[in-house]
Amino acid sequence: MENIQNYINGQFTNPVSDDWIDNYNPASGEVYSQIPNSSKDDVENAYKSAKSAFKQWSQTTLEERSRIMLKISELIETNLDRLAEAESKDNGKPLWLAKAVDIPRASSNFRFFANAITQFASESHESVGQNAINYTLRQPIGVVGCISPWNLPLYLFTWKIAPAIAAGNCVVAKPSEVTPMTAYLLGEICNEAGLPKGVLNIVHGLGGSTGQAIVENPDIKAISFTGGTATGAHIARTAAPMFKKLSLELGGKNPNIIFADCDYDDMLTTTVRSSFANQGQICLCGSRIFVEDSIYEKFKTDFVDRVKHLKVGHPSNADTKVGALVSKPHLKKVMSYIDIAKDEGGTILCGGNRITIEGYEDGYYLQPTVIEVLSDECRVNQEEIFGPVVTIMSFSSEQEVLAMANKVDYGLSATLWTNDLKRTMRMSTQLQAGIIWVNTWLMRDLRTPFGGVKNSGVGREGGFEALRFFTEAKNVCIKY
Ligand code: NAD
Repeated sequence: MENIQNYINGQFTNPVSDDWIDNYNPASGEVYSQIPNSSKDDVENAYKSAKSAFKQWSQTTLEERSRIMLKISELIETNLDRLAEAESKDNGKPLWLAKAVDIPRASSNFRFFANAITQFASESHESVGQNAINYTLRQPIGVVGCISPWNLPLYLFTWKIAPAIAAGNCVVAKPSEVTPMTAYLLGEICNEAGLPKGVLNIVHGLGGSTGQAIVENPDIKAISFTGGTATGAHIARTAAPMFKKLSLELGGKNPNIIFADCDYDDMLTTTVRSSFANQGQICLCGSRIFVEDSIYEKFKTDFVDRVKHLKVGHPSNADTKVGALVSKPHLKKVMSYIDIAKDEGGTILCGGNRITIEGYEDGYYLQPTVIEVLSDECRVNQEEIFGPVVTIMSFSSEQEVLAMANKVDYGLSATLWTNDLKRTMRMSTQLQAGIIWVNTWLMRDLRTPFGGVKNSGVGREGGFEALRFFTEAKNVCIKY
């Protein structure tokens, strides 16, 4: 049993209450570690540690902060295999994916913000005719909270922590209780890199208790949260009376809109990926596919054929394209939507069933599933499923597909396949989403703003947007 511990003040500690939670390996369904179910007392200890480190860290030169962060980035790379194995075992994602995407990106997050902080400039304004100059100070907030989900564990955990500490804050962070392992290993890496004690504190535990305690702490003045929309709304309600700064990156139900004039082969290959990468458990997956009617039947045949050939298997096998879903409750939830689709008159074009892998009979494997739906208003087309399940339907005009694409509560991302420039420009301005990809998917440049509209969230991460979030702007006006 590989027990993990909290990381507070640079030390690994057991929870005060000695309360532990089982952690499952989704590929086998077996318990393989235990994690602390941290209480308010643990969060308070983490907060105190962060507070006592703040004065020194906030006054550490940018060059020194940057040097330590580059060292963390380098050590993540050095530990690529170990971290990727832990991520895959915890989450069920293919090992090759963790090696190619999750862990390299965690390293990039530290490298990117180590450099970005040295380029983060503030404004000055001369008040002409009044002999005065205004300039903006960008000051760290103090102790901030970072709470992340299970789908891209180290990737999203570090996407928050790196800008927070680059900007001079100290952090109390909580990874998902379902995927705690790489966050635990990050503590060791931070110590080895020489991050001063208390700058980063990691508490493990359930959202409703440990996470809630972070949000309820009145002295943690900002919360950067990624997770479900319902949790985001709850956090916003808890935080509002304390006037905390919030960044909420929430759920999605993203349209993938395919016009007949697109580069078909490229579109087909990318659409398989954007539907089923990471078992469809990426907030940016295109879970609603709309296809122009002139190519609908061809697309349907070709797409279903490709999906049927996706290899579902144990995450450690090199040829596995779709691994295990993250947990038993999540598998149950995703499968319930397949029943809902049937009740709503949808046609299961492929998949729809749980798979048993020899030797791992209790693992959480599901066939990649394509559902042809009758209406864009059905539940499977409106609610976030967050698994290897996509819907497809046809459309006949730009206006029709725009209306369907926008008629959801969410607004995270949208993908558009077309070679018509004017249509691209028209639709990009009208699609209600924070991120639009045209003829590509999930191409990320870390300098760009990232976030959603409507129920997909509030605020933007990425580049200087993240550094703005993690700092307070103070205007200084000097009369001369
Ligand atoms: P979740 O909301 O259940 O949990 C996310 C995190 O919040 C976990 O660490 C959890 O322990 C914690 N939490 C739960 N209740 C809490 C509370 N009351 N107070 C404080 N913290 C609490 O989400 P999940 O199931 O882990 O992740 C899946 C969701 O995340 C999906 O909806 C997905 O779309 C979303 N997501 C969004 C983005 C984005 O960038 N917009 C990225 C990845 C995932």
